[in-house]
Amino acid sequence: MKPRVRFAPSPTGPLHIGGVRTALYNYLFAKQSGGTFLLRIEDTDQTRFVEGAEEYIIEAFKWLGIEFDEGVGIGGELGPYKQSERKALYKPYAEQLVNDGWAYYAFDTPEALDAKRKEAEAQKRTFQYDASTRMTMENSLTLPPDEVARRIQDGDHYVVRFKYPEDTEIHVHDLIRGEVVINSRLLDDKVLYKSDGMPTYHLANIVDDHLMQITHVIRGEEWLPSAPLHVMLYKAFGWEAPQFAHLPLLLKPDGNGKLSKRDGDRLGFPVFPLQWTDPKSGEVSSGYRESGYLPEAVINMLALLGWNPGTEQEIFSIDELVKAFSLDKISKSGAKFSLDKAKWFNHEYIQLKTAEELYPAVEKLLVSKGIQFDKEYLMKVIALMKERLNFVNEFLDHAGFFFTAPAEYNEQDLKKRWKEGTGGKLRAIDTLLQQDKVFDMQAAHDRVMEYIKSNEWNMGQVLNSLRIAIVGEAKGPELFTMIDILGTDEVHRRVEKAINIVES
Ligand code: GLU
Repeated sequence: MKPRVRFAPSPTGPLHIGGVRTALYNYLFAKQSGGTFLLRIEDTDQTRFVEGAEEYIIEAFKWLGIEFDEGVGIGGELGPYKQSERKALYKPYAEQLVNDGWAYYAFDTPEALDAKRKEAEAQKRTFQYDASTRMTMENSLTLPPDEVARRIQDGDHYVVRFKYPEDTEIHVHDLIRGEVVINSRLLDDKVLYKSDGMPTYHLANIVDDHLMQITHVIRGEEWLPSAPLHVMLYKAFGWEAPQFAHLPLLLKPDGNGKLSKRDGDRLGFPVFPLQWTDPKSGEVSSGYRESGYLPEAVINMLALLGWNPGTEQEIFSIDELVKAFSLDKISKSGAKFSLDKAKWFNHEYIQLKTAEELYPAVEKLLVSKGIQFDKEYLMKVIALMKERLNFVNEFLDHAGFFFTAPAEYNEQDLKKRWKEGTGGKLRAIDTLLQQDKVFDMQAAHDRVMEYIKSNEWNMGQVLNSLRIAIVGEAKGPELFTMIDILGTDEVHRRVEKAINIVES
């Protein structure tokens, strides 16, 4: 049987990159074996629903190029894939558990529960609704059956709680963590269903994983504490449980705790794939897309945060990831996020792109800045300058002088390089540059070098002054390549302008 896996986000806000990584690992796992990867939206908790979050999730995966085979926005035979659209389906399952003795109706009011909590606190205990307390509460285990029936009939509020067997070891087999064992004494009789007609996450998740024929549940470590309940629910329903794999947490760069929404903007990197504007507060959180990351770089970086190929290889195309990925090479310990590494990946992926491929993004950037350019010219600049870029957004920081002549010159560079008589020397070199009808880079280079040598000028001083005139500072790519792209007329204008400004 081919694997069927799912990514099951709750639309409670923008998708954290930890969630993106979970989806990616599911995707890689499915693709590797020709399995199916589906998107299910878990929106049963209406109080946490956030406007626009579902659309955000779909757009994020589009941008990343991660495609689902089934699910919300795609369809499929086992849909609908949005839990709110499956609402009516869960109640019979809750009732089945009650009828089979695996669950019970509980009528305790919030006040009654609170009083129990306070009472326990006063005795330095924490209250837990479990085998040791459930017989003291107001539920279908303690009330006569006709009263239970009457209360339900009358529309009293109730919840359905899972009834853990007393003092029982529950085993969770996790593909990453191995065997996890917990005693039911430590577990709370979790709410599965509420009388408002909504299942909780636990019930909906298990029912849907079963009905959608999920074979492997690959999800974040934060769900490990729920796994014993899930294992028990499969048992209670008499269904075969899927295999579980709980992924290690993504940690802050210093390794101290989970990477949170706040860390990103505090430390200068995005925690979300796309920029997100909170619909209520208007607060904006940065996104990888808007920060100039390439989706391939984000995917490659995330793939290696928690999974290790077992070789030195770091750059993986998505196809290579699909081939190399395996659950047994996922680490048990948390993976530290590194901004330098994220930048490094982006830099590497920019180098893998041709100028043609980078063109649209750079074009957009220049247009947004109101800069005029010619396509052929811009292509040459991109080809020359891309090696300096970590982000396309930085293009003008490195290559701005190709579009606008400097209006001022770096003081320190001038002091170091521009001496008396420099203006005259630059004019002489400018004349040499103008000599070819069609600029011949190599010939011009040789001519200029020869000339400087025969005049016994200081090579570094003259060439750097020329560079200052062209760029505005003693930086930039190879001098003659730069002159070739800018054209000798433009170089001439810049030399004259610099002499005017510097020597006046
Ligand atoms: N809805 C849960 C979430 O938001 C899904 C957890 C799971 O994969 O079981 O992450």
